[in-house]
Amino acid sequence: MSSTANNNQDRSNLIPFSSRLREGRALALDVWTIYNALNLPPDCINLGQGYMNFAPPKWITEAAEQALNSVAPNHYSHPRGRIRLREAIKNFYDPLFNRSLNVDSEILITSGANEGMYSVLTAFLEQGDEVILFEPFFDQYLPSVTFNGGKPVYVPLHPPASHIKKPTSDDWTIDMDELRRAVTPRTKIIIVNTPHNPVGKVFTRKELQGIANIAEEFNLLVMSDEVYDSLVFDNKEHVRMANLPGMWDRTVTVGSAGKAFAATGWRIGWLIGPKNLIQPTLAATTRIVFCSVSPLQEAAAAGLEQANQRNFFQIQRNEYTERRTVLTDVFDKLGLRYTLPEGSYFILLDISNVEFPEDYPFPESVMGRGRDFRACWFMAMEIGVSSIPVSEFYCEEHANLGEAYARFAFCKDVDNLKAAAERFQKIKKYIK
Ligand code: GLN
Repeated sequence: MSSTANNNQDRSNLIPFSSRLREGRALALDVWTIYNALNLPPDCINLGQGYMNFAPPKWITEAAEQALNSVAPNHYSHPRGRIRLREAIKNFYDPLFNRSLNVDSEILITSGANEGMYSVLTAFLEQGDEVILFEPFFDQYLPSVTFNGGKPVYVPLHPPASHIKKPTSDDWTIDMDELRRAVTPRTKIIIVNTPHNPVGKVFTRKELQGIANIAEEFNLLVMSDEVYDSLVFDNKEHVRMANLPGMWDRTVTVGSAGKAFAATGWRIGWLIGPKNLIQPTLAATTRIVFCSVSPLQEAAAAGLEQANQRNFFQIQRNEYTERRTVLTDVFDKLGLRYTLPEGSYFILLDISNVEFPEDYPFPESVMGRGRDFRACWFMAMEIGVSSIPVSEFYCEEHANLGEAYARFAFCKDVDNLKAAAERFQKIKKYIK
């Protein structure tokens, strides 16, 4: 072939990408990218993606520095994770699980909770196996399931009835019969997320027991994403799925240094479970990332080692309670309807009565998506506070259910939240 012929050819798609990317909304621009601070005006207050506008505690970053200044922690960790962190996890969680965790076979360090969950799915899914997700669900679960050959099956978390003027996350409910009906001979895994992103729901013992009964009856693995376990408010009890009778043997519990220690970019997470679930997952994670970032594992270990003696999590919970109040106070004053979260650091605001001009100069990325995508963009531009549209946490067929909500993250310092609250006054003129 002559070089001229070559030049005339369309060479933009020479190499076809995997059909895997056609599923699980993997190709759609993800919501974190669309509402990334870099795409918004520099003075927009960012209550979108859930990360802090403050650093991890000094005593933890000092441990990171120390690790960087020594030799061993600059090199590969054991694929299971550094022994210091596994021991710190054991000491911290033994009383919480009421058992003596084996650091070699029951604890696995992963590159963020996300990679840990991906590895569980790689380790346990066969092509066509079904995975039950409660909807809304943290968006990343969906491609993690489909990339691993799984088929997502959705069970609703029913939103608060419209007559409830001041709903809490407890008013988002599951129907056990619906869950039971969703189970088929192909069901393999149920993903539970408590405290829940984006709803803030802390599942009750009764709800978890209902899920556990079904898992037991149909022999299902439960992946229990509990990354917000240290952020439960109002003396609500965080019940661990793995602690329910018989559930240890079929539950992987997921934890995260990012959430616990305000270090979301560190990508240090952990999985806790029985050997029969952790060992296959270790095989998967070893091939996916080999091992996780070593110096930051040392720092996360320091965090867990000292957390109790410093009363760190209680102090942090008090701080988050204050942060939550800054936003709920202004929503109350403005008469806006929201879900009071009992856990995590997200508040869902009902935006169904926020009006915006449909001919507003919206970017391409929010067109053709739910109304909430445009509402969140409009609010970021006109009110100066960014948020995340909640239809992203629903499958395409049910996206309309999420359109009524915008998610505001309150993992920000009080000054920042007060400034956001101030700006919210402007929302009044857009409420119909
Ligand atoms: N967990 C974070 C949130 O919900 C986002 C994580 C991510 O960006 N993938 O805001």
